[in-house]
Amino acid sequence: MGNKGREIVGMDVEQVIEMLNRAFADEWLAYYQYWIGAKVVRGPMKEAVMAELLQHAGDELRHAEMVATRIIQLGGVPVLDPKEWYEKTNCGYDRPSNAYVKEILRQNVKGERCAIEVYSKIAEMVRDKDFVTYNMVVQILQDEVEHEDDLQSLLEDFEEWEKK
Ligand code: FE
Ligand code: FE
Ligand code: MG
Repeated sequence: MGNKGREIVGMDVEQVIEMLNRAFADEWLAYYQYWIGAKVVRGPMKEAVMAELLQHAGDELRHAEMVATRIIQLGGVPVLDPKEWYEKTNCGYDRPSNAYVKEILRQNVKGERCAIEVYSKIAEMVRDKDFVTYNMVVQILQDEVEHEDDLQSLLEDFEEWEKK
């Protein structure tokens, strides 16, 4: 990365790179969980759920792109082998083996809650030390908060529907 850009990072750059690589692994797994979830989802309201899952998949892929770009700027290398996603991930991967809408929504709400925790922690770590990473992390965090809210609303709609 540019020397001045690296110099202004007031903490161990390798530590920032490592945190970002873990988040990078999370984003790819989240992307795939949404993408495959949208393919297999079954049950009532499935069109609305599918549309939301696909939109979120697109957001997670965009997050992976943002995080990879920052890792490279910091002089790091984004995870090169998908096998490492499982070793690095904070939030893991929930296989949508039960494709019923409610279960898929529940799994993804859980994933979003984990993502919110991870990005909040990273934001706190870099807040006064790496402004560029901080700014990016806050942007991603805003999306994750929106994702949780969207899925929770769908889940509530679904539960209302179930009562009828
Ligand atoms: Fe994300
Ligand atoms: Fe998300
Ligand atoms: Mg949404």
